Amino acid sequence: MKRPARTAILAAALALSLTAAAAPPPGSAAASPWSASALWDTWPSARVSGPDPWALKHAGLRAALDLLQARQPGLFVVEQEGVSSEGRKIPLLRLGSGPTGVLLWSQMHGDEPTATSALLDVLSWLGARRGNAAVEQLLSRLTIRIIPMLNPDGAERTQRRTAEEIDINRDALRLSTPEGRFLKSVRDRTKPVAGYNLHNQGPNVAAGKGGEQVAISLLSVPGDEALSETEGTRRTKRLAAIVNSLVTPIAPGRVARYDMDYTARAFGDSMTRWGTPTLLIETGGWAGPDEAARLVRLNFVALLGSLAALADGSVDQVDVADYARIPLNTRDSLCALVVRGTRLATGRGLPPFTADLSFAVPGPFAGEAPRRREPGIVEVGDLAHLRGLAELDATKLLAIPWPATEAPEEWTELQATLDSRGLVDASEARLLAAVRALGEAAVARSGFAGPVLLYREGVDGKLTLAGAIIRGRVVGEGLTPPLPSAPAK
Ligand SMILES: [Zn+2]
Repeated sequence: MKRPARTAILAAALALSLTAAAAPPPGSAAASPWSASALWDTWPSARVSGPDPWALKHAGLRAALDLLQARQPGLFVVEQEGVSSEGRKIPLLRLGSGPTGVLLWSQMHGDEPTATSALLDVLSWLGARRGNAAVEQLLSRLTIRIIPMLNPDGAERTQRRTAEEIDINRDALRLSTPEGRFLKSVRDRTKPVAGYNLHNQGPNVAAGKGGEQVAISLLSVPGDEALSETEGTRRTKRLAAIVNSLVTPIAPGRVARYDMDYTARAFGDSMTRWGTPTLLIETGGWAGPDEAARLVRLNFVALLGSLAALADGSVDQVDVADYARIPLNTRDSLCALVVRGTRLATGRGLPPFTADLSFAVPGPFAGEAPRRREPGIVEVGDLAHLRGLAELDATKLLAIPWPATEAPEEWTELQATLDSRGLVDASEARLLAAVRALGEAAVARSGFAGPVLLYREGVDGKLTLAGAIIRGRVVGEGLTPPLPSAPAK
């Protein structure tokens, strides 16, 4: 075959690049403002949300909305206001004027705020791009309604339930709560063709067996017990697949399908049944620095990118089967901290034995009762099945539980206390005698909340205090636990 001249190749390449610039092909990642990387990269400039989504309460939300309206008059209107049982106004925002109606609601559970912050950033991003052809097209094709923070009374208390102590997400049939009645009335009046039900699921969930920590999980919410596939659920499956394709390049392996069957009194299920097929997005965890902000940013990408796919119709091109390929949520295989293979002594006077220890370090998200809120030991024994978001190799260490009543919580004070008792450098026999004297108060078991002291071999056959686990955190100069795997970006 004859080789084309080099100039011809260059000319062809140039023509191709010019064509691409003039008319980006559908789904072209490089040219589209809706690509995951473009959205991810432009989030910092649009960000109006604060560093801690849990710190945003009703007053802060109202102030942020006022700021956005002042900056971008006309971007959205407050179409209606619901009122919580304690009298807080719940704004329903409307933007766009297109024929396709979409309804997004966040923080139905008061302690699940990540998406509320992301929605503020979405509004800011859109507002800063008024006049941009892609944004104007989106707003001409969709009418987007947003209820940020459906449960302001729960948010005020950082709790799941309303001021009436009712879980709105189990109130879709009885409608005892004013918040639930408001959401239902908005749906019935506006009849959106897609709903976004935005939650947090907690950090200790893996994507499939042995998979990564789930950052985002998705559910095409069924509308009946038989989990029937309808035109509506196919749409939300495609939408979930779009979110998966947006999030995966940024957070590989960290997307899962939510693990829940049909629940008639839940809102997402009822929305689907009432004719608004609903996508559930649950934010999980993504251990590492600035975790909360990275999860807001990921939500921002998922929300804007999938709205764009609804607007331009590309959601209809997605293979429904892509949804089933997303791995399932797997619970109870992750823990905040696992201490591996320590020799453990206890107040019961038994000879030290080998054990792993797992610790909970709960954040402000409480989730479903009775999930543990207090930091401390979760389990003792062979924990090979469990993965720690942080892990400590303690195979050369002697661990001694120390009752919280006997120990200050601050590491340097704890060291000083132990020093005054001659227990910073001591023989093993002396340490074992000290823990035996504490009896049942110094037994490492599920729920134990005191510090766990960690000793390593020092000089002259003595053991030296290397560090401790205090309220689920590793402290001490002599210990360096590996940090969680670094985020992709
Ligand atoms: Zn929830």
